[in-house]
Amino acid sequence: MPTGEEPLAGATHARDAALTESIAPSLLAWAERNGRCDLPWQLDPTPYRVWVSEIMLQQTQVATVIPYYEGFIERFPDVAALAAAPLDEVLHAWTGLGYYARARNLHRAAHLVVERHDGCLPDAIDALQTLPGIGRSTAGAILALSRGARHPILDGNARRVLARLFAVEGDPVSGDTLSRLWTLAEACTPQDRVPEYTQAIMDLGAAVCRRSRPLCDECPLQDACLAYRTGRQRELPSPRRRAARPCQSAYALVIRDAHGALLLQRRPSVGVWGGLWSLPQFETEKESLLWLATHLPTAIIERHDVPSQRHVFTHYELELRLRVARHDATRREIAGCTWYDRHNPARVGLTRAVTEILDTLCQ
Ligand code: SF4
Repeated sequence: MPTGEEPLAGATHARDAALTESIAPSLLAWAERNGRCDLPWQLDPTPYRVWVSEIMLQQTQVATVIPYYEGFIERFPDVAALAAAPLDEVLHAWTGLGYYARARNLHRAAHLVVERHDGCLPDAIDALQTLPGIGRSTAGAILALSRGARHPILDGNARRVLARLFAVEGDPVSGDTLSRLWTLAEACTPQDRVPEYTQAIMDLGAAVCRRSRPLCDECPLQDACLAYRTGRQRELPSPRRRAARPCQSAYALVIRDAHGALLLQRRPSVGVWGGLWSLPQFETEKESLLWLATHLPTAIIERHDVPSQRHVFTHYELELRLRVARHDATRREIAGCTWYDRHNPARVGLTRAVTEILDTLCQ
């Protein structure tokens, strides 16, 4: 197997070289009949609009992204508007989408684009990749879809399609396997109609070459596909090697005042839920009770029996044990905290811990 991104050549890759030439024409013909062309970010594919869509689409389904995307673009129509907005506003627009590092990176990157590039996303892929949250595939997609520039992409969908088409073994996101997939992505990208091809390979991965139960009988690449020919669609791409996620527990206070407002505390700017507003959270129950006695001495713990919340992050799982308290005395301001009134909500970003509480206990 090659270790770099050398052109496909030699006996080892003669088969792949023949296959790559057949991919784009078949895919483009399929896309003309089946591709999506009415998604909101496709209607006016400026670099900024494509960038926002590509970031939102990481880890998130198209149907979920659409309303968030439309709200985000309405509120932040261009890079300058995004850079000028407070982070709280950006996180507020992102609340519910998850993976908030994406929103923080978008905001930081918008600042850098204003400072370094006069508010216009750069056309050079190297410059684009220096911005927070923009890796090689995202940079390639932005330039391909908005500028028609010939850059390959290798998002999750393209990775899966290529790994199956060419029967590429191994962890698809690291080492030699990743290099090999980039080589194939580069070789398959046509010289012309790059935006259509880029959208088509993403669409095929999402709609046909699905992670489980791919619809091979509807696939325009079936004749070329090595996984199909050898019945190995389920085995490819090879499962990623992941370390087991450790489980941590913490205590969180659900404190409501006499008007039903919920006390929220801002999370540190780095780490999980960075910059979002969440329930006051502590490592131990003793710490939580001490904090409550110090800051809201007249508050009363009402319930210990609320089911815990479980949150899954990239590197660990968190069990949040909830203690529900009531504060009927005059509202007190506490540094780093705010009273959140869901009927007159502040424009801030909320953690999933809070949105779950609002949906259950604070109806
Ligand atoms: Fe994916 Fe099946 Fe098409 Fe191969 S034939 S690319 S496995 S959908």
